[in-house]
Amino acid sequence: MDIEDILRAKKKRVTPERIEMFQWLQELHLFQSHDLILRFPHIGRASIFRTLDLYMEIGVLRKLNFENRWDYYELASHHHHEHFQCTSCERIFQFDVSHMCKTLEFLGRKQWFYVNHHQIVLSGLCANCHDALPQI
Ligand SMILES: [Zn+2]
Ligand SMILES: [Zn+2]
Ligand SMILES: [Zn+2]
Repeated sequence: MDIEDILRAKKKRVTPERIEMFQWLQELHLFQSHDLILRFPHIGRASIFRTLDLYMEIGVLRKLNFENRWDYYELASHHHHEHFQCTSCERIFQFDVSHMCKTLEFLGRKQWFYVNHHQIVLSGLCANCHDALPQI
């Protein structure tokens, strides 16, 4: 399903900006609203924030929170993953946990809780930072 079909299915207006932004986002992993503001100066700040809210409302975007970082987003793609964050260099990595995420939703459902957002962030050291530790 492309963004046009999703907007139509959710009874939202299809505008060139909504399509243009989404197409660019498909090439990125994590991004900030700031990246969009720089990339699409002709769209305007307020409209960019409204579009991000709209994408979240229709379920194509996730907002993420990381230690010492704010305002991060990524597309809620079919290939679902979560993140590791290195406590030393603060870089963020992805790991594939699609079946675990489905299990979480299933466990919620068993208690009549309909999960529509979750985020898992594992923190620790990345391979580079780990290898850079002085040997004891
Ligand atoms: Zn690191
Ligand atoms: Zn990610
Ligand atoms: Zn997940």
